[in-house]
Amino acid sequence: MNYVVMDLEWNQCPQGKARENPRIPFEIVEIGAIRLNENLEETGTFHEVIRPLVYHRLHFRTQEVIHISQEEFDHARTFSPVVRDFLAWCGEDVRFVTWGSLDLLELQRNMDYYRISNPFPLPLFYSDLQKMYSIEFDDGKSRCALEDAVEALQIPKSRPFHRALDDTFYTAEVMKRMDLNQVGQYQSIDYYRLPQKKEEEIWCDFGTYLKYVSRVFPNKEAAMRDKTATSMRCSKCGLPVWRKVRWFSSGGSVYLSLVQCPRHGYMKGKIRLKKACGGGIFVVKTIKPADEDTARRLREKKEKVRSHRKDRRQRQKEAEKNTA
Ligand SMILES: [Zn+2]
Repeated sequence: MNYVVMDLEWNQCPQGKARENPRIPFEIVEIGAIRLNENLEETGTFHEVIRPLVYHRLHFRTQEVIHISQEEFDHARTFSPVVRDFLAWCGEDVRFVTWGSLDLLELQRNMDYYRISNPFPLPLFYSDLQKMYSIEFDDGKSRCALEDAVEALQIPKSRPFHRALDDTFYTAEVMKRMDLNQVGQYQSIDYYRLPQKKEEEIWCDFGTYLKYVSRVFPNKEAAMRDKTATSMRCSKCGLPVWRKVRWFSSGGSVYLSLVQCPRHGYMKGKIRLKKACGGGIFVVKTIKPADEDTARRLREKKEKVRSHRKDRRQRQKEAEKNTA
């Protein structure tokens, strides 16, 4: 297997969101990539600037950040031939590595816009190094800028930031300094193309936790009514479990629950409801082992949410009475 560390730069509508083409809100203007073998040795680089066809002027923010001259654009090829060469250069059996979760998504959206057939497997796994960095060096939840990670790891800043090939170079340098035996299991799943049918839904065993990606539902209520989307099983043996705390909303689009496997103890379930690219809602569910402490905190949290709701209802009733 080869790694393709990739970074894209894109432009957006210079006249603002109201005038953008919704099929291609972000138009890719530069691709940078470094290919690494299994020992993380560099085996090739790809870099090309792309002449935009949708938004001809750069958005002021793009201009501030990426510094591509008009002359470079004038000499550049358009997206279709560049991306064809890029995909051929990547080869087969590659694992994409990106800083953050947007590059593969925008690459595929641009490919769809130009009707280039999508060669990637389904589900498409990739390494979001920004997430892995947070798991290894931070709290696992926060996300930091590439430049901050480069500084923290004392990587010499020999090149500028925010050009595709330079950022790719730094991403690869960060990767080489990470403990991939420890965080390599935290693979991400690309959510640009989602399961359309029940049979296509994704269950992945990442060793220490299970991840499930549902098909697309018309709305949040339909998603949370679905038996499979809300089902729980033991992340270690896969057997049915006892329900301890039913799904409850932990604010926003996150739901939590607690179950118990007769052999492996407590398992914590977490559902995130996400907006699908083509409209609708899909479920990302993770199931992982939990200790007594986590189980206790989950119970307390549910109790808190419940009493909050009760208070609110009580206040509403009183308010209605007073205005009546
Ligand atoms: Zn079990």
